Amino acid sequence: MKVLKFGGTSLGSIESLSQVKDILEKKNEEIIVVCSAMSGVTNQLVSIVEDVKNNNTIRIKEYLYNLEGKHIDVIHSLIVDNEVKEKLKKEISNMIKEISELTKQQYSESLKSKIITYGEALLTQIFSEYLNVSGVPNTLLKAKDFMLVDSIDKPNIEKVSDTLKSVLEHLPKSEVYITQGFICRDENGIITDLKRGGSDYSATIIGAAIDAEEIEIWTDIDGLHNNDPRYVNNTESVPYLSYAEASKLAHFGAKILHPKTVLPLAGKDIPVILKNTFMPSKTGTVISSDAYTKGVKAISGKDKITIVKIEPKVALGGHGFLKEIFEIFDKHKTSIGVVITSEESISLTIDDTSNLVEIVNEIEVHAEVNIDSLNTIICIVGNSIIDDEKTHKIFDILKHIPVKMISLGKNDNNVSVVIDTESKVEALKYLQEKLFLQEKAFA
Ligand code: ADP
Ligand code: ASP
Ligand code: MG
Repeated sequence: MKVLKFGGTSLGSIESLSQVKDILEKKNEEIIVVCSAMSGVTNQLVSIVEDVKNNNTIRIKEYLYNLEGKHIDVIHSLIVDNEVKEKLKKEISNMIKEISELTKQQYSESLKSKIITYGEALLTQIFSEYLNVSGVPNTLLKAKDFMLVDSIDKPNIEKVSDTLKSVLEHLPKSEVYITQGFICRDENGIITDLKRGGSDYSATIIGAAIDAEEIEIWTDIDGLHNNDPRYVNNTESVPYLSYAEASKLAHFGAKILHPKTVLPLAGKDIPVILKNTFMPSKTGTVISSDAYTKGVKAISGKDKITIVKIEPKVALGGHGFLKEIFEIFDKHKTSIGVVITSEESISLTIDDTSNLVEIVNEIEVHAEVNIDSLNTIICIVGNSIIDDEKTHKIFDILKHIPVKMISLGKNDNNVSVVIDTESKVEALKYLQEKLFLQEKAFA
C-alpha cells in the first residue's frame, strides 16, 4: 500500500484538482490519499480564530460567507449531476454552520485546532465525491477517527496503526482511501493539529502506521531544491537525500517539508518521494535511509532565531555550569539550536521565545545575559560535508557577511552559520553561486 499526500498548492483550483484526479486515475494499487485544505483556506480559518479572540463577529460572518462560496463554486465547476451537487452543497453548508457554532465558544487552543482543521474536511468532502463520479471510486476516511497520535513530538505509531486497521476492517474494501491531513487527537482524545504544513507529517505517520511501500508527497515543485527557490534563482532539484539530510533541511527552513516529516520513519525503510503535481514525469527527490552521494547538497535558511549570549560572573571552567544553564532551558521546555562555548561565554540559539523572560531571570542569578533577536540560521547540508572539497568555500562568506556563529552539526552532515536576517537573501545567493553555480560554469 502507498500513501500519497497532496498539498494545498496541488488542490487550490479546479485545474489542479482535475490534475490530481488524473494522477490518481493512473494508480493501479491500494493507496491512501492524504489531502490538505485548498490553498489559502487554512490562513482564512486562522483569521477567523483571531476574530474569535477579538470578538469580531461581523468579520467572522464575512469570512464564513467567502469560505462557503469558494467551496460551492468548486462543486459547481466539478460536479455535473444535479442530485450530487445538491447533496454536496448541503454537506458544505452544514460544515460551515458547524464552524459558525464553534466561533461562538470561548477561545482555547483546542477550539483553535478544531476550527483551523476544517479546511481539510471541506476539501475532502468535495474531492472524494468528485473522484467517485469521475471514475476513481474511493472511500472517505475521517482522520480524527484514527489519528490518535498522543504526542506531536513522539507520535504513537502503534496506536494509529491499530486504530486505522480496525477502521479499515469495518469498511468495504476499496483501492483508494481519501483522508484529511493536519488533524489529529492528543493523548486525551482532544482534537489538535500537527502545526502549519502538518499534512506532510500526517502522511508519514500514516505511512509508518501501515508500513507503506512508499510515501509520495505531491506539491508544486519538482522535489527539494538545492536552495530556497523563493529567494534564489537557478536552484535545482536534489535527486537523493537521506532521512537525516532531509530532516536538517526541513528543520532549518525548507518549506517544502514540515520539520517533523521524516521523524516517524526512523528505523523503517520507507522511501519518501517528492513529486510535482504539475509535472508528474519529473523524477523529483527520493528521501530514504541512504544518502547515495557525499558532499554539499542543499542550503536552507530559518528566520526568527534569537541568540542568547551568557557571560558567567565567575570565569567558565568550573564544572557544572553548562549543566545548570541547559537545565533552565529544559525546565522551560525551550529547545536549543546551535551552541558555541568559549572560555568567557556561551552563545546559544533558540526559536521559541515564549518563555525567554523567565529563562533570562533564572540565568541572571549566575551570569550576565545578552539577547540578540532577528537572526537567521543558514544551514548547508550534505553527508560527510567536511570531506567535500567545496566546503571551504562556505567560509568565504565571512569576507562579505558578518557571521555571528558557526557550527559543524552532528553526524558531519551540516554546517550552520548564524547571521542577521537582513543579510539572509544575500547569503543564500552568495552560497548558491559559490557552491553550485561556479562549479557548473567550470564543468
Ligand atoms: P504544499 O501546499 O504542497 O504543502 P508548500 O508551499 O508547503 O506546498 O511547499 C512547497 C513550496 O516550498 C515550494 O513552492 C517552494 O516555494 C518552497 N520551498 C522552500 N524551500 C524549498 C526547497 N529547498 N526546495 C523546494 N521548495 C522549497
Ligand atoms: N492546511 C494546513 C496548513 O495550511 C496543513 C498543510 O497544508 O499541510 O498549514
Ligand atoms: Mg506544505
